Amino acid sequence: MTEKVIVSNKGLVRADFNFWVGKYMDKFYDGLEQKKIVGNKCSKCGDVFCPPRSVCGKCNENLPLDQNWVDLPESGTLQNYTITPYKVTDRRTRKVKDPQLIAMVQIDGSNTAIVNRLLNITPDEIKIGMKVKVDWSEKTTGAPSDINGFVKV
Ligand SMILES: [Zn+2]
Repeated sequence: MTEKVIVSNKGLVRADFNFWVGKYMDKFYDGLEQKKIVGNKCSKCGDVFCPPRSVCGKCNENLPLDQNWVDLPESGTLQNYTITPYKVTDRRTRKVKDPQLIAMVQIDGSNTAIVNRLLNITPDEIKIGMKVKVDWSEKTTGAPSDINGFVKV
């Protein structure tokens, strides 16, 4: 029988990585860089997806990459939210002092919701069904951080 030696180190491990989000999300992020919200529409049932997808979640129809892109407004409706002490945009950061309000927002004209922060609002002001709009980052780069979050209209 061989003796097993286990070595452990305490501390943070840094792991930088890149990955490709795919052709559909590429278009979505290209839109964000222009401060535009884009989605794609199912030609069979008419549902609009934001963020866009390759297959309709309702009727299973393939959504061709070169068709049925729709420009959507920067406004939407709060579908749901949660409060978390963690910073969503930076997983290396542990608990933050002020809790983050994370919202699911259905962009007007779409049938799905996107997730981002709710800004400049206190939890007691939040009402599901309230109108919100995108708060854009000053400098956009075609990345998730182009959207700071949503603010009430
Ligand atoms: Zn469909």
